[in-house]
Amino acid sequence: MLRLYDSRTREAEAIRPAHTGVLAMYCCGPTVYRDAHVGNLRTFLLGDLIGRTATAEGMVVRTVQNITDVGHMTRDIEIDPTGDDKILAQARLEGRSAMDIARHYESRFHQDLARLGIRPAQAYPRASESIDLMHEIIEVLLARGHAYVGTTGSVFFDARSFPDYGAISGNRLDSLKPGHRFEHEIDVGKRFHADWALWKAADPARRELVWDSPWGPGFPGWHIECSAMSLHLLDRGVDVHVGGIDLRFPHHENERAQSDATTGHEVVRHWVHGEHLLFEGRKMAKSTGNVILLDDVVAAGHDPLALRLAFLEHRYRAQLNLTWATIGAADRTLARWRASVAGWAESDSRPVPAPLRAEISQRFADDLDTAGALRVLREVEKDAGIDPGAKFELFAAVDEVLGLELAREVGKGRAPVEQLPAEVTELLAQREKARAARDWARSDQLRDQLAGLGVTVVDTPDGQQVS
Ligand code: AMP
Ligand code: ZN
Repeated sequence: MLRLYDSRTREAEAIRPAHTGVLAMYCCGPTVYRDAHVGNLRTFLLGDLIGRTATAEGMVVRTVQNITDVGHMTRDIEIDPTGDDKILAQARLEGRSAMDIARHYESRFHQDLARLGIRPAQAYPRASESIDLMHEIIEVLLARGHAYVGTTGSVFFDARSFPDYGAISGNRLDSLKPGHRFEHEIDVGKRFHADWALWKAADPARRELVWDSPWGPGFPGWHIECSAMSLHLLDRGVDVHVGGIDLRFPHHENERAQSDATTGHEVVRHWVHGEHLLFEGRKMAKSTGNVILLDDVVAAGHDPLALRLAFLEHRYRAQLNLTWATIGAADRTLARWRASVAGWAESDSRPVPAPLRAEISQRFADDLDTAGALRVLREVEKDAGIDPGAKFELFAAVDEVLGLELAREVGKGRAPVEQLPAEVTELLAQREKARAARDWARSDQLRDQLAGLGVTVVDTPDGQQVS
């Protein structure tokens, strides 16, 4: 039974999906105005680890991860001191259109996920394409007395109308004083300092990322997009909601208030947050030149999956200080394991001792104790009493969750491996579906993802062909 630490109940909870056997998961996705750094990637990996572990436990996993391409305001004074939309600010900086910026970094995001062995979600809805859904929710919130139109024409959520506000982060309304550094502090025209904008009236000079609405031209607030997409795509029930620890407040607190006030029930069963990553002992920030990308890891000569292994060496709930030395060490372990697995594959297959298999499964199920699972694998590696054929089977099986391509060297020097990796087959199948539905944007996005895996797709009259 999979257990995960729930930020709201502050306990490791048994994960029992609302619909037995089907896990509905929502992972907060990237704001696509720049490349993801390795800290963001650690948080994106968390959803993949939960998904793979749940799959190993026999569940069917349905994951939705949003693409934030509007509504996330910047506090990054390096980009824009006025607190503008992150995408617009970056578009100005690069001299490109907002949609150009968004599509470029969205495609880079998919490439990063593919290189890190993160299995694709079932849907990647874009905020900019979900505006109608947001309008619908705002209408309901207004009708139910949870929202109001402020003095400047923006629509605000009335925080005081949701008495349970603060349950995830502990930031109760009576402890939130005016002047607290709210992400939405810059909103003007609201009644109470902790209220936040659901719909922001646009300045007439704004040319991009602006939509008509029943309240006039404007654009959505950041938090409402996650309520709209999760309620719509996961049928008003999220079993596990994932994000980085910084999203607990205000993002998830506000999302919970919006979703629960809209539906009248607790929408998210479990809130799971990944701790932050430091690099060489420091917070990753542009101002200190301390932002590391997956590209930097690869440029330093490392396998991108070495980063994945370096993350797995620590439980997601512990802050991790990543260093070049730890990435290098992980890369060496990865190479050694792949060589060992290829060597063990030469022996006849032997059944894995059941207690060993069970112990590793338990580590994963116990709030993703990946570090503990790796310790067991290291013991198995050294144990001369375990048959090489059994070692091969164990490492190959556990790799379904680890996702490190440990059997990659198997068969090298012998017959070429003809089979496509499962991940590639899955992406090709999703692309075939997208093309049948004439969803060209999704089809292009999947082609980019496949390109990130080194697979080139060509569309021919007989369907898609790979090379
Ligand atoms: P963003 O693209 O800025 O919206 O962030 C995407 C995800 O990365 C969110 O879930 C954040 O909580 C998470 N995140 C941001 N910084 C870090 C970090 N240093 N370590 C781990 N996760 C992070
Ligand atoms: Zn979100």
